[in-house]
Amino acid sequence: MSKALYELTLHAAWAALQRGDFSAVELTQSLLDRIAQVDGQVNAYLTVTAELALAQAAAADDRRSRGETAPLLGIPLAVKDVLCTEGVRTTCGSRILEHFIPPYTATAVHRLAAAGMVLLGKTNTDEFAMGSSTENSGYFPTHNPWDLARVPGGSSGGSGAAVAAQMAMAALGSDTGGSVRLPASYCGVVGLKPSYGRVSRYGLVAYGSSLDQIGVLAKDVRDAALLLGVIAGQDPHDSTTMPAPVPPYSQLLSEDVRGLRIGLPDEYFVEGLQPEVNAAVQAAIDVLAGLGAEVVRISLPNTDKALPVYYLVATAEASANLARFDGVRYGFSADSANILDNYRDSRGQGFGAEVKRRIMLGTYVLSAGYYDAYYLKAQQVRTLIKQDFESAFTQVDLIASPVAPTTAFRLGEKVDDPLAMYLSDLFTIPLNLAGMCGISVPCGFDAQGLPIGLQLMGPHLGEATLLRAAHAYEQATPWHSRWA
Ligand code: GLN
Repeated sequence: MSKALYELTLHAAWAALQRGDFSAVELTQSLLDRIAQVDGQVNAYLTVTAELALAQAAAADDRRSRGETAPLLGIPLAVKDVLCTEGVRTTCGSRILEHFIPPYTATAVHRLAAAGMVLLGKTNTDEFAMGSSTENSGYFPTHNPWDLARVPGGSSGGSGAAVAAQMAMAALGSDTGGSVRLPASYCGVVGLKPSYGRVSRYGLVAYGSSLDQIGVLAKDVRDAALLLGVIAGQDPHDSTTMPAPVPPYSQLLSEDVRGLRIGLPDEYFVEGLQPEVNAAVQAAIDVLAGLGAEVVRISLPNTDKALPVYYLVATAEASANLARFDGVRYGFSADSANILDNYRDSRGQGFGAEVKRRIMLGTYVLSAGYYDAYYLKAQQVRTLIKQDFESAFTQVDLIASPVAPTTAFRLGEKVDDPLAMYLSDLFTIPLNLAGMCGISVPCGFDAQGLPIGLQLMGPHLGEATLLRAAHAYEQATPWHSRWA
C-alpha cells in the first residue's frame, strides 16, 4: 500500500515535490486532514493556521514552478508556541499571553520561512516552557500518541506529539533543561538540542537565557540535520550566537563511526533507572560498538549537583525574564482599581502555579543576603559541571546515556509532586549547564510499547559528529520506522 502524504519524512517529501509527484497544497492538505482527524485526542496544537498554511503552500508551488529549489519549499512544519510569529498568536502556553500577537518573527522561524516552510500552527507547551509533561500548559495537556493516558514529555510536548502522530513533518522546540530531548524520547522521534550560541534565540520568549536553545524534533536524523542547517548561524539580533561557519550537516552524514570514541558516564547508569531503559541503551551502545566505535567508561563526577544548580540558575533567570509580563506591556491586564493592584492582579491571575513557584524561588535566590549562598554558589558549581564535560571530551568524541530514567509517565502521576517531575530531567540538564549539544534518538520500546530514547552528547559546536553517529545508529536499527 502506498504511503499517505503525511507519513513521508521531510527529505522524502521534498524530493517528491521536486519530482512533481504531488503539490505542496496537496501535501499541506494531507497534514491538515491528519490534524483534523487526530488532534482532537492528542491536543498537540494550540493554534492551527490552516488558511495561512494553504496560502503559503500555493505560493511554494508557484515558486517551484518558476524553478526555485529552497531546502524547505512547500514543507509543512509546526512551531512551539514560545517562538514569536508575526501576526500569529503566541501564547507561551500561558493565559497571560492568550491574545498576544507578536509584531515580529523569531529568527529561527524566519529562516525556516525564508527556506520555503509552510506553517501549520503553534504547538502546546508547559507554561513558559517550565515543565516536563505539558501538564503545566495554561490551556490543556497534550497526550502521548503511543498511549493517550500518558504524557508526551515536555516542555515541547506539543511539538513531540505532533511529529510522532504525523501531524507535522517536523517541528521546532526549545530546550532549557531537556525540553526537546525529553519529548522526543517519550514520543519516539528524533530531538536535537544544538550547542548554546549555535541557533539565534531572537524571538524565543526567554526562560533561562543562559540555558535556552532552540532545537528540532524530526522523524529521522537526516531531517534534523537538514533543519539545523537552515536555522543555525550567527544573527546580529542575538549577540550570543557564534560566528563559526555552519557546516553542511546533511552532507556530513556518512554511515561510518569507525574509530569514534564514545564515553559511558558511570553517573548516568544508576539505580532507579527503569530496567528496560537500561537494557535498550546498553543494546544501542553494543550496536555502535558493532559499527566500529570504541566504547569507554568515563566519569562526570559533579552530575549529582546538576539538578539543584539548574533550579537555582534557571529560576533566577526566569524571575528576571518574566518581570516584563506586568499587565501593561503585553497580553492580559486585570481590571483593577490602581496601577499597583493591576500589576498584582494581572500577574496573579495570568500566571499558573508552576510559573509562580519559579518566580518566587528565583527572586529568593537573587535577593540580598541569599545571593552569595545560592546564586553565586550555583554559578561556581556550574563551572565545575562544565569542566567535567570539557575534560571528558579530551578522552572521548561523544557521550552516550539514557535521555530519561523512565519511559512516559501517566497524566496526573507527578502533577502534585514537583520534585518527582524535576527528576525526569536528571540526564538532560547537565548538558544545558555546559552549553554543549545533544540528541535523542529512538532506541527501542518497553513492555508497555512506549518508546525509549538514546542520548548522545557532543562538545560545543560538535553537531556534525553528533549527527553522524546518531545517523549511523539509526540506519542500523529499525526503531525510527515505527509509528504510533
Ligand atoms: N523540565 C525542565 C524545567 O521545567 C526543563 C524545561 C525546558 O527545557 N524548557 O525547567
